[in-house]
Amino acid sequence: TERPLVWIPRPVHEDALARLRPHADVRPGYGPEGVPFDEVSDRVTAILLRTERVDGAMMRRAPHLRIVARHGVGLDTVDVDTARELGITVTTTPTANSRSVAEHAVALLLAVRRGIGIALRGEGDTRAAIRGRELSGTALGLIGFGRIAREVAAIAGRGFGMRVLAYDPMVPASVMTSAGAEPADLPTLLSRAEHLSLHVPLAEGTRNLIGLPELLALPEGAVVVNTSRGGVLDESALLDVVRRGHLAGAGLDVTAVEPLPSDHPLRDEPSIVITPHTGAQTAEALRRMATEAADHIIAHIA
Ligand code: NAD
Repeated sequence: TERPLVWIPRPVHEDALARLRPHADVRPGYGPEGVPFDEVSDRVTAILLRTERVDGAMMRRAPHLRIVARHGVGLDTVDVDTARELGITVTTTPTANSRSVAEHAVALLLAVRRGIGIALRGEGDTRAAIRGRELSGTALGLIGFGRIAREVAAIAGRGFGMRVLAYDPMVPASVMTSAGAEPADLPTLLSRAEHLSLHVPLAEGTRNLIGLPELLALPEGAVVVNTSRGGVLDESALLDVVRRGHLAGAGLDVTAVEPLPSDHPLRDEPSIVITPHTGAQTAEALRRMATEAADHIIAHIA
């Protein structure tokens, strides 16, 4: 019988390729040896992809395809209905980047609180303009208490001595308490959160979950950080409350439109720090996402 064939449309961490090679022929879709999908479709057993599209037509052209292993999360680029119909397994790596995103949320929090964005702009006497605040002893509200939020709670609670409050209707209070967070309903959390960090998926129930009333419910001078999805936070409401001076600033790794246009009004606010969806862009997360996806393929074709 023929060896399994894994097609990889875009570069992933080298450790994943090394892991796959004893089990399968590895064919890149990129670089000098790159082959397009159509040249391997009659033999391909597995696809290890990042954000590339795998549509139903591709799956139907690949009679031996058994698994599509996604590096990272989010399946909007994969036709999961056709995969299900054809018996093709689709996997993701939901925990591989949690720690990296959590550390990034804390980085944004510090960047806003200590005026690092203002300092980097270098406009006028930035030293005189910057008045930071310590995180220690302040309250951090977490909206959503899944994988990433629990890592944030650990860093903020044990590392910075923050008081952590969490709101997540799907997580039992005992889980929050043992992870160092105090369970709270949304109004209570908002009224106390000097820092607010968002960690919910974007879904119908979470679109604009944090809008003008929620932002105005925060204590004066609060900071909001969003590393989840742009649509969870109403950006025009955010701009409004920052301009009014109700919020001290915000840190955004995600925005409703990505990449964020260079002339977007969010960029005009010195107290808003923006990173281009880089929460998971660390050596560790990239390696973990790739090797976990490779392991899913190996387990499946063994
Ligand atoms: P998770 O599934 O582990 O946790 C999400 C939590 O949100 C769940 O516990 C769920 O009960 C809760 N939740 C859902 N709806 C809610 C609501 N209306 N109110 C309160 N809580 C609600 O997810 P995760 O791995 O922690 O990821 C969280 C977010 O981070 C996702 O939006 C994900 O897309 C995003 N993310 C961003 C990056 C990045 O690069 N910035 C990387 C990975 C994930």
